[in-house]
Amino acid sequence: MNVKLVKLLLLELLERIVLMENFLDNAHCHAAEEADYEVIGSFRDFIKNIKGEIEASVCDMLTDDEREIHENTLYFCFKKTLTLSHIVNILHYHLYTVPSKDVVLSETHIFLNNFSRKIDYGGYYAPVEPTFILWNSYNFRHLKLPDVIISDMYQSLLLKEIMSYRDTIRPTTIIALPKIEFKNSFRWCLLVHELGHAIDTKFGISEKVSKEISASKEDMKILKEWTREVFADLFALKLLGPAYVASLAFFSSLERVLKPEESHPSPNTRILILIKELKNILKKTPEVVEDLINFWDMRCEYGRKYGLDSTENPDIKDFNFGNYESKMVPMVKSEIDRICKQKFNKDNYKKATELCKLVAKGIPISSSRDYDDKKLMKDIDKFKEMNEDIKVILLPKFNEKPNDISEIMNAVWIHRSTILEEFCSTFFENNQKSFEEKYKTFRDELKNIDKITLKSIGTADINSLLMEKGEKE
Ligand SMILES: [Zn+2]
Repeated sequence: MNVKLVKLLLLELLERIVLMENFLDNAHCHAAEEADYEVIGSFRDFIKNIKGEIEASVCDMLTDDEREIHENTLYFCFKKTLTLSHIVNILHYHLYTVPSKDVVLSETHIFLNNFSRKIDYGGYYAPVEPTFILWNSYNFRHLKLPDVIISDMYQSLLLKEIMSYRDTIRPTTIIALPKIEFKNSFRWCLLVHELGHAIDTKFGISEKVSKEISASKEDMKILKEWTREVFADLFALKLLGPAYVASLAFFSSLERVLKPEESHPSPNTRILILIKELKNILKKTPEVVEDLINFWDMRCEYGRKYGLDSTENPDIKDFNFGNYESKMVPMVKSEIDRICKQKFNKDNYKKATELCKLVAKGIPISSSRDYDDKKLMKDIDKFKEMNEDIKVILLPKFNEKPNDISEIMNAVWIHRSTILEEFCSTFFENNQKSFEEKYKTFRDELKNIDKITLKSIGTADINSLLMEKGEKE
């Protein structure tokens, strides 16, 4: 089983490399100056070296029959993949040196506004509609601009002077996404977590929850931060379902998954809370979710086995989350239930499993026929039977309704899981194809999925606006 784990981690790393190459290709078209070409050229050299290393020291070792791969080899590949991913993160940070005209896509706004509209905080407030930026750190974040400028950059410098500006700066809510992820819509599931932070900050929900729990002063500091994270995670799960858990699990899989921070519980703690709640939402655990849970278990077990993911953080060694979890999680859940008008449920999931068949055929999934229109179809059949002389033509799009963005994202995720499963064997097969050929197939496949997803998101939104308009008239 561990062979599969290492292969999946490697594919995750390769996907980040694909995204970086896409970014550089795009930057290349805009570069006007000779010096810019130089910079882009250096990045390309870096990527080429990393790919070379993956090909020579990882892929080749995984081509054998799975049963014959020695544990030492596997451990070596695992460690190498984590190290290379770290280098990719550093490279990403330095992308600020690359000239680029990439901007946040309109689909990103459509995507997130769709979730923002599902929140009702007493009906008095305008929806939270954040501004987006593409940035150089390889992580997703929610920022309140004045706070960031003041706390991050000038901490030791001129603090007093800067602080006096604080209240004069417009408190813009910003959500930052890593540059290379600007078209990778499946990863945008993580933006819903950031939206959760924006809403939480606006309404002080997690602040309220943590105040109701009694804890020492030292514990309270951490508990407040962790409540914020648990809120944002469960918020994203309630709106998005399993696609969020999958997106977070793969994104975190190349990090230290067992290490807690003052600001965040360890990725493992977060994922375990999510999985527990996901099982409640879906009632029965589908195979693809089962696979996801196995992937995560294996990842943590393997990290633990080799001590590659430090499990402790000396800064917070006295904090025991177990003392608070059983009280805090249900409180957070009930707050979310109160503000979410429309939550992801097992019917949404069922629809996603149907839609995923269309994605596999390369068809965008902006709208579909409801399952409860079976009665209507029966009536039409009956009509046809009784009126044989009348020719009844049903338009293929007859009675279709716009799909929910959460259904689209889950359909895409289920399809992606199948594709990754396939690549787990084809990419490492000992065949005539070169590494570069296989890499190209992988890259094309990912591009294809992105294209279908973006198209589905954009058109679903237009469809629902048209429908809303139609219903009003
Ligand atoms: Zn967060």
